[in-house]
Amino acid sequence: GRGGRLDKYDIPVEVSGEGAPAPAAGFEEAGLVEAVLRNVARCGYDCPTPVQRYSMPIVLGGRDLMACAQTGSGKTAAFCLPVISGLVAADADAAAGGNKDAFGYDDYTRAARPRALVLAPTRELAAQIHEEAKKFSHQTGIKVKVAYGGTSMIQQLRDIERGVDILVATPGRLVDMIERGRVSLEAIKYLVMDEADRMLDMGFEPQIRKIVDGMGMPRKSMRQTMLFSATFPPQIQRLASDFLSKYIFITVGRVGS
Ligand code: ADP
Ligand code: MG
Repeated sequence: GRGGRLDKYDIPVEVSGEGAPAPAAGFEEAGLVEAVLRNVARCGYDCPTPVQRYSMPIVLGGRDLMACAQTGSGKTAAFCLPVISGLVAADADAAAGGNKDAFGYDDYTRAARPRALVLAPTRELAAQIHEEAKKFSHQTGIKVKVAYGGTSMIQQLRDIERGVDILVATPGRLVDMIERGRVSLEAIKYLVMDEADRMLDMGFEPQIRKIVDGMGMPRKSMRQTMLFSATFPPQIQRLASDFLSKYIFITVGRVGS
């Protein structure tokens, strides 16, 4: 059901969508794996921000998420922590079943196969998410790599081909790498679109639609999708209904449209 609640920081949070889980009181209560909890502590995060408290149980619970939240609300950890935790848990399950090396690289096509894709509008933002995600995946075995334009693609590909679990990318460079057959989206389990409104403002909608719908990515029922945006205009609403499946919608603070 729909209902405004006041967070403990007095930041209003609106939640709607069928079966939304309760927000986590703290990082420990959210259900993150131990290795990720250690990294959160190493980063000096004592308690989650409102968008983190709501997002973590939703994503860890396997649900799609549309989150409207302003800059500075802590969105990076809101998606990185549950995604990293989910990948670590999947690896532990695979290892228990004797299937540890099932992911990361396609021996036949020789394309890198990330399991999580984070799309961001700019090189600076992609680099920033990459740095944060590396801190959160310290000693988990999860490899985070980055792809953005304006710099050598050879170098980035060399790094990606050494192993990639999470790829943080700007749309243009990613399309280029996929079209060259160097990156495959066929193993994607998690898709995150960060600052989606800025990506649209920058004219990336055609590339985004191509990446999500025309380049081998599993369909929406076979992946988990998280869409983050500061605003919720009709163009973003359409992306949400096209890319998300039975999603939970959260609004943190005051959001324009
Ligand atoms: P957004 O993407 O919403 O603009 P960021 O994820 O970049 O926000 O976070 C903004 C700042 O707050 C960063 O410096 C980040 O390290 C810090 N931060 C995020 N979450 C927490 C937390 N739970 N505790 C302390 N600092 C945090
Ligand atoms: Mg951000």
